[in-house]
Amino acid sequence: MQMNRRAVLGATTLLAVPGLVGARDAAAQAAPPVVGPAVHRFQVGALRVTVVTDGTNVRQDVRQGLVVNASAEQVSGALQAAGIQGVAMRNPFNVTFVEGPGGLVAIDVGTGGIGGPQTGAMHANMREAGLDPARVTRIVHTHFHGDHIGGLTNAEGAAIYPNATIAVPEREWAFWMDAGEESRASEARRPAFANARRRFGPYAQKVERFAPDAQVAPGIRAVATNGHSPGHTSFLIHDGNEQALVIGDAITTPAFFMANPEWYPVFDMDPTMAVETRKRLLDRAATERMQVIGYHFDMPATGRVERAGTGYRLVPATA
Ligand SMILES: [Zn+2]
Repeated sequence: MQMNRRAVLGATTLLAVPGLVGARDAAAQAAPPVVGPAVHRFQVGALRVTVVTDGTNVRQDVRQGLVVNASAEQVSGALQAAGIQGVAMRNPFNVTFVEGPGGLVAIDVGTGGIGGPQTGAMHANMREAGLDPARVTRIVHTHFHGDHIGGLTNAEGAAIYPNATIAVPEREWAFWMDAGEESRASEARRPAFANARRRFGPYAQKVERFAPDAQVAPGIRAVATNGHSPGHTSFLIHDGNEQALVIGDAITTPAFFMANPEWYPVFDMDPTMAVETRKRLLDRAATERMQVIGYHFDMPATGRVERAGTGYRLVPATA
């Protein structure tokens, strides 16, 4: 998802978490905690996978402005069905690291703090996980929305990952680096073009563009999941018989977009394609009982997908 001002402002409001609702503790209301661990680690064969959160923001009222093709009543119904009280919802940001023969690979890099006061915790949490930015050998990107590439550079615009090569989907690069696309973009979207140039700038000599379904690192294969953005890509982490799929923003909030795969968020750039992609992905994940990792899922940000009613649900891994 892309950031928006409303979402950032929402970060200071009371969070609708069972257990917190009704709490009289003013401090808890002012600063809703990240729910779940900051770091979650598991193996895919011999590959060590570590999901690290950059933090979260909170949407104050998700009934309006997030799900384009559902009414406020329908969205309220989905919240209730998911057991969520109130109308606020967390939007976390979680980066997946893979350690193996390819070195240390990061899949996206977090917000760089643009997600509000409770984001930008990537480096503190990487330290907790024993992951040094200087050890990262390769960064692969799902797409170029600001909350996924913001962490490439620091406040001075310098590279945070000095020893990493960068792998990007060729379609995504072609779109965001195209002056014609930039000139035709809506006023709201146009700054994202300049942001992409700025974030990738210090890495200019180290950017490699990959084709859909390319092997991007040992044990990591691209899976084209276009729609959320023109070149949006997921990544299959695989070793032997084991696999896990990093889905980026192909599916964001499970309570909405797993339960109702035909719904789409305002951030899907090509809604028709995004919905087709989402349905295909959900069907595959449920059929193969595949572990999925979501950039915007609550930590531990991973689990399996089950069919439920007319849609699907996420069965989170136990942290
Ligand atoms: Zn996102």
